[in-house]
Amino acid sequence: MTRLEANTREWNDWRWQLANRVTEPGDLARWLPDFVVSPEMEAAAERCPMAATPYYLSLAGEPLENDPIIRMAVPAGDELVQTPGRGTDFTGEEAESPVPGLIHRYPDRVLLLTSRQCPVLCRFCMRRRIFGEHEASTGDPLDGWVDYISRHSEVREVILSGGDPLVLETERLNTILTALRSLPGVELLRIGTRAPVTLPMRIDDELCRMLEQHHPLWLVTHFNHPREVTDEAGAAVDRLLRAGIPVENQSVLLRGVNDEQHTLMELLRGLSRIRVRPLYLHQCDPVAGIEHFRTALALGPSLLEPLRPALGGTSLPRLMVDLPHGGGKVPWDGGQQLTDLKGHPVEYPEDPQLT
Ligand SMILES: *Cc1c(COP(=O)(O)O)cnc(C)c1O
Repeated sequence: MTRLEANTREWNDWRWQLANRVTEPGDLARWLPDFVVSPEMEAAAERCPMAATPYYLSLAGEPLENDPIIRMAVPAGDELVQTPGRGTDFTGEEAESPVPGLIHRYPDRVLLLTSRQCPVLCRFCMRRRIFGEHEASTGDPLDGWVDYISRHSEVREVILSGGDPLVLETERLNTILTALRSLPGVELLRIGTRAPVTLPMRIDDELCRMLEQHHPLWLVTHFNHPREVTDEAGAAVDRLLRAGIPVENQSVLLRGVNDEQHTLMELLRGLSRIRVRPLYLHQCDPVAGIEHFRTALALGPSLLEPLRPALGGTSLPRLMVDLPHGGGKVPWDGGQQLTDLKGHPVEYPEDPQLT
């Protein structure tokens, strides 16, 4: 990997990393000189925007064709394959959005789309429909969020997601958190972010000093592969923990990335080493353009079950399946029929060819 074009000061500056994200497959050669671009990749990037920080790309290794980092960050021809019945919003978020950028699915918690950008636009994202969407042009969406939450006293937790909340300036984040904290019903704040994985230099002292003013605040991040558990990521997590912020992890089970037992084991052990607690391992949603990442429903339990004796309670995630039409996330341990939160059987779209 070549870092030669950037000096250390630039490399460690999160704004430099964001400003220098690679947004076209043709520009990957700047960081990965051996990378071969195909016309299919260009077409896939045309359909759904690409972005990746130089830091994240530096985690890729040879051979690049099969590299998990490349698979997660670089558009692939497979995204152009159309699978009948696949839409862009499998879990039905748009139907549960009473005001722009706010999703209210579970009674006691709401999720906010605080931005439309990420350090890396993950190719497997179930919310890829919003990539490159323009932010609301009229007014500040925060006003609508505060108004809605103040009228819904059942909401006790607010989750900042997106797009990645940590692409916002610290001052803007502080404004959002302060406004949410002023609502008497809101007890918990949660930030969902991949910054510790894709932009660890974002987690600086200035950010942590601001975040610790808003406790109780939790952070849920998203590591998928042991290669992502770097010294930089570990240091970012350490800064968060020192600010009293618990750090948990959600992974997605992805074909060609972490669908082998030894990879999962290494990932989960690596997370424990940097004191990140694995919370969920998600079944990859059936969304248009990400079929090549999906695995059969039966695979997750068959990978995780045998790891149980080898991993302690602090390293074992729960396998979760997000149901269609706002059914919510349900735990899944294989075997029996998949049921919704009320115990009713659920039809889940599954291709019998899938393994
Ligand atoms: C996943 C999710 C949540 C949070 O669920 P947890 O199980 O608490 O992590 C909240 N709202 C929406 C819309 C979600 O998809």
